[in-house]
Amino acid sequence: MISMPKSTINVISDWFFPMMCKSCGESLDAGDLACTDCLNNLSQTHYGNWVESISCSDGIDEVYSCWFFDDELQQIIHLLKYSDYARIGTQLGKRMAETISIENSGSIDLMIPIPLHTIKIRKRGYNQADFIAKGISKVWNLPVTADAVHRSKFTESQTQLNRDERIQNLTGAIEVRKNVTGKTCILVDDVLTTGSTMSSTALALKNNGAKKVIAFTCATPRPVSAS
Ligand SMILES: [Zn+2]
Repeated sequence: MISMPKSTINVISDWFFPMMCKSCGESLDAGDLACTDCLNNLSQTHYGNWVESISCSDGIDEVYSCWFFDDELQQIIHLLKYSDYARIGTQLGKRMAETISIENSGSIDLMIPIPLHTIKIRKRGYNQADFIAKGISKVWNLPVTADAVHRSKFTESQTQLNRDERIQNLTGAIEVRKNVTGKTCILVDDVLTTGSTMSSTALALKNNGAKKVIAFTCATPRPVSAS
């Protein structure tokens, strides 16, 4: 039997039961895709600013990640891949902004979703990070500047490169299209793993004069226990 992610099954069952939570199957308010209980049950990282702990932090001043990337959240984030359900990102973004308090968030000038490579955008038709940023934007009353950065050139396979070369390569692929001189920018993405994409985008902004770069992600994998 072909195994499908639970959210795929829920997407299929949605044709028949449109008003149910795509994670647990409970009934829902109109417009929502996940229920309050499912969102409440996601495990928060309680990390605060954890920039000191990420592997690639060059160019990044502060990092905030709302939840651990556990199964429950993976199911929900998987929905971002379907255009009909990508608005789940807006629901998540709202929750992120309500959950995490970022010091001096009022001094942020630009909110920028991490750009997908144009080929991926063309294939999918949208950037999922835009939806997350839109949700944050509703709570903070800060507009999304989706066109501030652009991933302009195809990045070759990076497996032969060391960490620094990899970040340099990615930074070179990012084109800053807005005036960011002296500005505080917040970069938004779904999941942060090593931070290399964030770091390369942050470096591109810094190279163009940005004063401060904050990274804000929905999730990060739970650290592997040392024991
Ligand atoms: Zn639910």
